[in-house]
Amino acid sequence: MARAVPAVQLVGLRKAFGDVVAVDGVDLEIADREFFAMLGPSGSGKTTVLRMIAGFEVPTGGAVLLAGTDVTTAPPYDRDVNTVFQDYALFPHMSVLENVEYGLKVKRVDRVERRRRASEMLDAVRLGGYGERRPGQLSGGQRQRVALARALVNRPRVLLLDEPLGALDLKLREEMQVELKAIQQDVGITFIFVTHDQGEALSMSDRLAVFNAGRIEQVGTPRDIYERPATAFVAGFVGTSNLVDGGTATVRPERIRLLAAGEEPREDETFSAGTVRDVQYLGAESRLRVAAGDGELVVSVPSGALGDVRDGAGVRLAWRREAAFRLTHAGMKPEGGGDA
Ligand code: ATP
Repeated sequence: MARAVPAVQLVGLRKAFGDVVAVDGVDLEIADREFFAMLGPSGSGKTTVLRMIAGFEVPTGGAVLLAGTDVTTAPPYDRDVNTVFQDYALFPHMSVLENVEYGLKVKRVDRVERRRRASEMLDAVRLGGYGERRPGQLSGGQRQRVALARALVNRPRVLLLDEPLGALDLKLREEMQVELKAIQQDVGITFIFVTHDQGEALSMSDRLAVFNAGRIEQVGTPRDIYERPATAFVAGFVGTSNLVDGGTATVRPERIRLLAAGEEPREDETFSAGTVRDVQYLGAESRLRVAAGDGELVVSVPSGALGDVRDGAGVRLAWRREAAFRLTHAGMKPEGGGDA
């Protein structure tokens, strides 16, 4: 069977602004209909990559392919791509329906067809009854959905979203994360989403790329990234992680268990003893900081299993060897498996 052509391919993509290398050799393939997140700290190059896909920025080197066609130097309007920006940029003097219709008007789609497609898209973003309102009469989340409808009405092959939920408060943000994902599945368009919020990237995306200093540290499913971080940077940026084995492997706090008095570690477990430095009660679970060896381990345990453990207590810890992952770019494998 022929391999499907990726919606987006980036090949050795580079961008320098004077002395600043914003993007430093990025290779990436994003499949058709994928919900893909680009995650990384501020200044790591995510937005610059997005702008090169959109055509707002010309690469210093490398190539951008859309559905197999090289568009590296093509202007934005010649690309089958649309962008939703964080500030929405809706036209305040137009109704919601007119805002959504706008792109079709520019393309000279006739009035009846325009209305039909715009109304359909407002339904798709759950704003059916809101067509006659002005943007000023909507909530932040509703305005965000109008911006989405306006970008989707042209049926682009790829939708780029630059921190689209950044302006929303936490509760609305969480609601919109669920909505965005549902809308993406309804419309069946490739979404590429830039965020510095790891929770958002993990909860919404099919796959994500973690950026650091202009490069991609790791690409994978949320589960891959969380459970098998390839580098110390990924392990530290996405969730809390412990470096073990002299900093060459990582284990998540919830994978470490407290041994009861007299209990021995199992055959398949690594053992460590230490002293509790801090106990943080978080409700269902508690988080311990434990000084062990020449480092510190963060351990997450069900509060019910805490017993009389408190600051200064000596504890014995164990984790399954296969819960620890070695930090390597290539060929990540469980600590215990293979050539170990
Ligand atoms: P944020 O989450 O803060 O938006 P980001 O990961 O999207 O960050 P970019 O905006 O892509 O990062 O910026 C990457 C680097 O390139 C930064 O050091 C930034 O200062 C620099 N940069 C971006 N745009 C320009 C520009 N037009 N001129 C000069 N430097 C730029």
